[in-house]
Amino acid sequence: MQLNDDELLRLITTEDKSEIESLFAQARKAREDYYGKSIYFRGLIEFTNYCKNDCYYCGIRCSNSKLERYRLSQNEILDCCRRGDKLGYKTFVLQGGEDPWFSDERLAQIISAIRSEFPEHAITLSIGEHSRGSYELFFREGANRFLLRHETSSVDHYAKLHPPSMTLENRKRCLRDLKETGYQTGAGFMVGTPHQTLELLLADLRYLEELQPEMAGVGPFIPHKDTPFAAHPAGNLSLSLKMLALVRIILPKALIPATTAISTIASNGRELALNAGANVIMPNLTPQTNKKLYQIYDHKLTDEDDAVENHLRLVEMIRSAGLEPDMGRGDAKR
Ligand code: SAM
Repeated sequence: MQLNDDELLRLITTEDKSEIESLFAQARKAREDYYGKSIYFRGLIEFTNYCKNDCYYCGIRCSNSKLERYRLSQNEILDCCRRGDKLGYKTFVLQGGEDPWFSDERLAQIISAIRSEFPEHAITLSIGEHSRGSYELFFREGANRFLLRHETSSVDHYAKLHPPSMTLENRKRCLRDLKETGYQTGAGFMVGTPHQTLELLLADLRYLEELQPEMAGVGPFIPHKDTPFAAHPAGNLSLSLKMLALVRIILPKALIPATTAISTIASNGRELALNAGANVIMPNLTPQTNKKLYQIYDHKLTDEDDAVENHLRLVEMIRSAGLEPDMGRGDAKR
């Protein structure tokens, strides 16, 4: 559906309950047109909380000296995959800070080990900015998808959220390289970051429309106490859900997760995100002791210890929303 800037801005700002409900209904319809009732699972593995970057919003930034750091070994990562596979998950998402210890060679080895043990599964990477050559190497080893949020499509705003060593130009270069390499690529942004305006949110929608990523992540900014943005309020729940619905309408074929951040600001956040058009759930397979240390923001929701119980609860939640857990790979519709 084509929406002009004025219509988009009106929907972003509307507080009218029936208008918001009809926006969500349109988003659900757009999802259903391509994916029916299917909701897909991705097993998330947060394999390192070391990061060389210093993003002002993120709790695992390198300047946060208070955080205890960890790295999972290749065997520990494979164990997470095995646990996920037993639960029926056909996608593993390897997410982490930009950790130079995980050199191209080490990452290639890990990807290749997962690929040979799980030839049919999808391997998604969420490991930040790399050279085109590295992206190509990971792809050859068997990675299929890559999540890299653009965070904001404005050069000025990007510079207010990141140190000078990071540029929007490079982020966009990465996203182009990922697409051209053949990855199903995910972009996205946080809602409610410092200095964000409604016009910037509109620009984020337009950027996604132009990029046409196969996946899109939208979730509220949540402050972390040991970052420069500690005192900034979290993003608004209703605005986050409206943005998710608008992303669904603009990118009807996208795979859109019900993010952990939404569940962190609202206990029924996952249900609300599904109601607004999300179609992916990402249960966390990271060992409990490690996932507590993957503190990108304060009070991050950690799923129950027991992965089986957690999975069953999610299945139940999806069914009671009138949707169907789909244990397929859930590749993007082209
Ligand atoms: N290093 C990789 C990268 O930058 O893509 C993956 C890890 S990074 C922590 C994953 C995402 O977490 C970022 O794209 C960002 O949008 C989100 N994030 C970081 N800090 C956040 C915060 N304070 N509130 C909400 N989301 C946050």
